[in-house]
Amino acid sequence: MQECIFCKIVRGEIPSAKVYENEAVLCFLDIAPVTRGHCLVIPKKHVENILEMPSQQAGELHEAVRRVAQGMLQGLGAQGFNVGMNNFQAAGQLVMHAHWHVIPRFEGDGLQLWPQGKYDNEQEMLSIARKLSASS
Ligand code: AMP
Ligand code: ZN
Repeated sequence: MQECIFCKIVRGEIPSAKVYENEAVLCFLDIAPVTRGHCLVIPKKHVENILEMPSQQAGELHEAVRRVAQGMLQGLGAQGFNVGMNNFQAAGQLVMHAHWHVIPRFEGDGLQLWPQGKYDNEQEMLSIARKLSASS
């Protein structure tokens, strides 16, 4: 993955503000933080998204996310954190190298979560659940 910006960060070809790393995982600050301390946790081996990610790699990332999140609570005085991953362009994925966003949260930080809607009626809701269930 010569051109992938996160692979370049893993190889040290472009700089990053590293927070944590081990053999499998790298964590660094997002250059455009939602809140101060917003981290990206990435696998060193390139995969595009969560569907391509083997379970072992997912487990390694999970451990690193927990570690960094603990650091946010203890080291930054955060009271909480959000964890999220954008998968595919339609979901807002800009860098096609899978990554968890770990975002420290502070009481009164004013950050609004995504807006929620509602189903037209119960029938519509159940029909969507059935479709999903049949293909999951
Ligand atoms: P996503 O939309 O989930 O693909 O998010 C990509 C994230 O990568 C964005 O939040 C960017 O701010 C962040 N980003 C892009 N380039 C860099 C970089 N060189 N160093 C740190 N973060 C970056
Ligand atoms: Zn990559």
